[in-house]
Amino acid sequence: MIGVLALQGDVAEHSRLIRQAGGEVCPVRRPRELAGLAGLIIPGGESTTIGKLLVAFDLYDELRGAIKEGLPVLGTCAGLIMLADTIVGGTEDQRTLGGIDMVARRNAFGRQVDSFEADLAVRGLDDPFRAVFIRAPWVERVGSGVEVLAEYEGHPVAVRQGSLWATSFHPELAGDPRIHAAFLSATAVQ
Ligand code: GLN
Repeated sequence: MIGVLALQGDVAEHSRLIRQAGGEVCPVRRPRELAGLAGLIIPGGESTTIGKLLVAFDLYDELRGAIKEGLPVLGTCAGLIMLADTIVGGTEDQRTLGGIDMVARRNAFGRQVDSFEADLAVRGLDDPFRAVFIRAPWVERVGSGVEVLAEYEGHPVAVRQGSLWATSFHPELAGDPRIHAAFLSATAVQ
């Protein structure tokens, strides 16, 4: 059973792709809904808002604890920012869950190129993945334990550290379940 954090973002699309990849899925809004999950997806949205909502829904400490204990998580776009140990370009009071030893820069691609799509080579996938970037972060620095799965113009945009996965782009928007499937199968064998 994979949870999808349902405070903001493309909850329905992420849920559909997990089902398509053969998994079961449920929305997560309350601390008790974290219990027994095999993994969690943190959708995109606005990372500052997600941080505040996590606190308001009493999920912040619970989720940090679950991540420390090894809960597999796939964070996309703002979800990548939430999983970064360090954020640049954030607000003063911005909260991150952390877990991945990386520096994420918010809105890194700048205003001119607010949103764009690109065909990316992603490690482990045979064919390019159509990646949709929306006011996306990039990864500015990774620690030695972090595997870079994809880059765009020299910047890491998909990474993995152990059971934590993160993409700068929105894998749910192209309707391609391969990244969800990879997360699901890595999660299932843990
Ligand atoms: N720009 C957003 C942030 O900083 C992320 C955008 C997104 O998730 N599409 O949180």
